[in-house]
Amino acid sequence: MRNQILVLETLQRVDMELSQLEKNLREYPEKIADYENEIETSRLKLENSKKTREEILKSKSRTELEIAQNEELIKQAEQKLFEIKTHKEYEALQKQIADTKRKNSELEEKLLEEMERLEETESRLSKEEEELASKESEYSDKIAGFKDKIEELKIQYQPKKEEKEKIASGLSPEILPVYERVKKRNGFVLALARNEVCTGCNMNIPPQLFNEVLTLSRLIQCPNCQKFLYCEEEPKSEAKTG
Ligand SMILES: [Zn+2]
Repeated sequence: MRNQILVLETLQRVDMELSQLEKNLREYPEKIADYENEIETSRLKLENSKKTREEILKSKSRTELEIAQNEELIKQAEQKLFEIKTHKEYEALQKQIADTKRKNSELEEKLLEEMERLEETESRLSKEEEELASKESEYSDKIAGFKDKIEELKIQYQPKKEEKEKIASGLSPEILPVYERVKKRNGFVLALARNEVCTGCNMNIPPQLFNEVLTLSRLIQCPNCQKFLYCEEEPKSEAKTG
């Protein structure tokens, strides 16, 4: 049965390597997707800022145009003042000039705000451009690295699977499903038995059973954690018989 223990040990080692391969094959694409998402988020942020800048620029030129048109109106009205005959008309025109000037001072305030917003947006935009560029260069290396690793893992996967099957074929057929069950439950399938204690779960092993572990007359599972028990020393002829 020592041979079966050795098979179990090898199987466990190869199986762990296989699990690690499977884990990486699952996780690396997720990591790539995370990096790609981060780049995309930065890109969208930048797009938004660019859109905002466009809107501010458009609104700013509309304001500037309105101010210029109003200034022209004021100029024309002020010239007309000299040609007016009646007091009533004069007053009406003066009121119109005052109204237009008031409107223009409001527009000038609006223009100042727009210029401030434009400045803020442009400084944010240049930061976002730097951020995107640095993410793109940093992450594209990482993404390429993960893609290479995935290709390597894919190459290793099938042979490793075949290796596991080959090793498993060295086990008694009824042991394999037990092995899979124990592995699923515990991760590790082997536990060292020492001084009538299972080191896998630290529970006592009944003396009769421990004796069987020592003599390796058959594969013994820990009654508590179900792991296959083995001992370090070679079976001794003077081992107690219980
Ligand atoms: Zn145990």
